[in-house]
Amino acid sequence: MTRVAVIGAGFGGLALAVRLQSAGLDVTLIEARDKPGGRAYVWRDQGFTFDAGPTVITDPACLEELFALSGRRMSDYAQLVPVSPFYRLLWPDGAQFDYVNDQAELDRQIAARNPADVEGYRRFLAFSEAVYDEGYKRLGHAPFLKVTDMLAAAPQLIGLQAWRSVYAKVAACVRDDKLRQALSFHTLLVGGSPFAASSIYALIHALERDGGVWFAMGGTNALVSGLARLFADLGGRLVTSDAVRRIETAGGRVTGVVHADGRFETFDAVASNADVVHTYATLLGDDARGRAVGRSLKRRRFSPSLFVLHFGLKRAHPELAHHTIVFGPRYRGLIDQIYKGPALADDFSLYLHAPCVTDPSLAPDGCSTYYALSPVPHLGAAPVDWDAEGPAYAARMLEALEARVIPGLREDLVVQRLFTPKDFERELNAWQGSAFSLEPVLTQSAWFRTHNRDDAIPNLYFVGAGTHPGAGVPGVIGSAKATAGLMITDLKASR
Ligand SMILES: Cc1cc2nc3c(=O)[nH]c(=O)nc-3n(C[C@H](O)[C@H](O)[C@H](O)COP(=O)(O)OP(=O)(O)OC[C@H]3O[C@@H](n4cnc5c(N)ncnc54)[C@H](O)[C@@H]3O)c2cc1C
Repeated sequence: MTRVAVIGAGFGGLALAVRLQSAGLDVTLIEARDKPGGRAYVWRDQGFTFDAGPTVITDPACLEELFALSGRRMSDYAQLVPVSPFYRLLWPDGAQFDYVNDQAELDRQIAARNPADVEGYRRFLAFSEAVYDEGYKRLGHAPFLKVTDMLAAAPQLIGLQAWRSVYAKVAACVRDDKLRQALSFHTLLVGGSPFAASSIYALIHALERDGGVWFAMGGTNALVSGLARLFADLGGRLVTSDAVRRIETAGGRVTGVVHADGRFETFDAVASNADVVHTYATLLGDDARGRAVGRSLKRRRFSPSLFVLHFGLKRAHPELAHHTIVFGPRYRGLIDQIYKGPALADDFSLYLHAPCVTDPSLAPDGCSTYYALSPVPHLGAAPVDWDAEGPAYAARMLEALEARVIPGLREDLVVQRLFTPKDFERELNAWQGSAFSLEPVLTQSAWFRTHNRDDAIPNLYFVGAGTHPGAGVPGVIGSAKATAGLMITDLKASR
């Protein structure tokens, strides 16, 4: 059988491993940490379950497809439930907007802010649907290997004014400042600044409206476990606590990998779901091409990092929304500082995850689990000593959350844990501690992003946030589809 290694068991690595194993290849999935998930890792502490990363599950169909490949059903492995409102948005002046999937209710809330924006929102939604059809449904899982692939998509990209930013497009449709924020913040969920990400990323709005926002019962890592179980049921081999040291090459081809214990194992092809800089500069550091591509990747723009504060309370708060965005006093100014540094801002905007609103089993009886995240500059943009600064930053976040969202929070605190930009670097080998890999700007998208197959080493492949189409669970699942298609064709041809 053709033997393939996938390095890294994030959502992208798992989805690729499932696709390849379903196609009859012999897949070994090698993960550095003690369990799969990557950004979607999980910690358990004193009865509280803390999902590390993704909480907003969109496009459930792309996940269902992974199970359907082998005639299985996702519902036998994981249970997704719809979340409403999608997000609750809060501003410092007390304004609130519940972003729901109900047109009449949306119209009512928009009209209350600015009646003319009801029609403007319709225009924005129509634009978002058009880019969703083109940029996600048609091109979201197509590999961009040649410049001609990019040129073929160029007329559509020009037609959709892909050179404009998401914010510019939103601002051309609606006038109310808060609605502009409500319709543009989504790019931050995949590492993009609303002021720099191509308007193509406005597709996220239509993606959510079309497929809904979902939550995996038991937490997102329960979905990861479901995928890992599917992979095992298909006969795949998952190896954990094994940080690959090197990808070996000879004669311009990959020959295998060197495991954490120094053991070399031969493979016919290798796909990396690990950070793209880590893969080229470190894992392929003995190869001239690896060093060269690694150097050139380091000169590119990387998404910011995140400061994530997980905490458990001895009280439940069913009155909260599952997802809340707590906007700070500045929007553009803060975002500029997050992307460019040079220092950590004094203010912040937070995302609060309150999963017990949907699944109380994630905390002990009567208690509740949360995380709050603050987008912050990556380590290259603002060299903060997070090990020293983290606790004080967390204390400021708790104070703000207590004042604006959860009264009495600090008295009810049972447990907390931090995950800082330094942890993204240390634990995930993320270049500059970036939370989302390469920044999603037009000049780093599609053909300009790391290719799903290396240009010179024909049996080396990539999957995950650093590749096309980019970060986010549906993005990396799409990249797995693109990479699997290439690998299955290539490997069948070479057999
Ligand atoms: C806090 C946070 C919240 C988010 N929220 C959402 C959300 O709500 N919705 C959404 O769609 N997206 C969200 N995202 C983005 C999404 O989680 C990521 O884009 C996606 O999960 C990345 O998946 P990936 O396949 O690129 O792999 P990753 O998750 O980055 O996994 C890569 C894996 O490779 C492993 N690895 C690295 N080096 C080695 C090595 N040498 N050997 C072996 N293994 C190695 C790592 O340990 C890791 O497990 C969020 C991200 C974060 C950080």
